[in-house]
Amino acid sequence: MSYDAIVIGAGISGAATAYHLKKAGAKTLLIERGEPASGGTGKSAAIIRQSYSTPLLVRLARASITMLENSRAELGKDAGFVQAGYCFVVSHDMLEGAKKNVAMQKSLGILNEWSDGPGFPERLPDINPDGIAGVVYEPHGGYADPVQATEAYVGAFKALGGEFRARTPVRRLLRAADRVTGVELDDAEVAGNIVVNAAGPWAKPLAESVGLDLPLRTVREQDTVWQVPAGRTIPKTSISMGVDACYFRPLGQGRFIIGRGFPKEYFDVDPYNYKTTADDAFISDVQARVEHRLPAFSGMKLLEAYAALYDVTPDWYPVVGPRAEIAGYADFCGGSGHGFKIAPAIGRELAGWLLTGKTADDFRQFSHDRFAAGNLFVQSFGGNRG
Ligand SMILES: Cc1cc2nc3c(=O)[nH]c(=O)nc-3n(C[C@H](O)[C@H](O)[C@H](O)COP(=O)(O)OP(=O)(O)OC[C@H]3O[C@@H](n4cnc5c(N)ncnc54)[C@H](O)[C@@H]3O)c2cc1C
Repeated sequence: MSYDAIVIGAGISGAATAYHLKKAGAKTLLIERGEPASGGTGKSAAIIRQSYSTPLLVRLARASITMLENSRAELGKDAGFVQAGYCFVVSHDMLEGAKKNVAMQKSLGILNEWSDGPGFPERLPDINPDGIAGVVYEPHGGYADPVQATEAYVGAFKALGGEFRARTPVRRLLRAADRVTGVELDDAEVAGNIVVNAAGPWAKPLAESVGLDLPLRTVREQDTVWQVPAGRTIPKTSISMGVDACYFRPLGQGRFIIGRGFPKEYFDVDPYNYKTTADDAFISDVQARVEHRLPAFSGMKLLEAYAALYDVTPDWYPVVGPRAEIAGYADFCGGSGHGFKIAPAIGRELAGWLLTGKTADDFRQFSHDRFAAGNLFVQSFGGNRG
């Protein structure tokens, strides 16, 4: 059996790419070692924002939001997108960069509002103003259900006639001279004109199985889930509390996912063997930061705490697209802690690139070729890291 395209990994990246390949007419096989969203996607806070520091990521976040808004019409199923808004609470150190980014985002048609000081009391009720220089509010932001969104893509892919194999690990890629020719499964070899490596933190060993370098680090990301006591006035939006390096993602019924954002230390781990529970010190640190900033959260109760993986590239931008050094192969990994919200739009543009050979100049920079050319994305202020 031979395919136009084989996509490895049914996280949000592989699922969106497979759907758009199939929709464009390519005979496509999507292969997943476990179930859809059983990697980092399933543990994602899935905060949706357009608050980025480069026009490329702003454009992709904006496009993904439109796709998530239209998921019922496009995919036949709701992607669980709650457009409750997003707040970015900035410290004095962040002020200049934040204002520059807000202006750049506005120039690209993004709807956002700026307030000096703690601002937007209806979005951030009873917030402690210590150290807050300003707040950006994006009405189009919010959060999604990462499992539901991924399942919506896989379901739509199958409805178009795409072939999906769950519980099927790819053992290695197959290569003949300067071309990847397919994949090896436990019981068969499968040929494909193009193999898309969307295996997240596990993409590196697959690339290495055919001698391809993939500069991915795997770091452990901890998250906590809390229940705020009943009767308190609490935020409804997603929040990057830049001033405290924390993020908040509402779950409904007074529950929140709360994690630590940049700046913080990131620790490399073995993606096949890492501690999947959170550390006590991490939990206490989150609790102290939150109760200091939002007194309404005091006495909150821990419901769950876990650790998952970020697959991180040297510049914290994903690796996407074909490479000059090899035919029949494309990367789509390295979401680097912020990859959920841009994956739907990247999947669509990647599919177009693979099938037509053409893509936008700024999108082409995502290719692995940027590392050899020294053309990395410039890491500037704007919260590109998770
Ligand atoms: C705790 C946490 C919080 C996050 N919060 C946010 C956020 O708020 N907003 C945001 O935009 N992003 C966030 N992210 C990042 C985002 O979730 C990820 O960048 C994105 O989900 C990665 O999706 P993926 O499909 O590339 O990878 P994954 O979801 O890891 O999918 C890879 C898939 O490949 C499969 N696979 C691996 N090896 C093989 C093999 N050999 N054969 C077959 N299948 C294989 C795996 O089982 C897995 O399902 C967060 C991530 C984490 C971990």
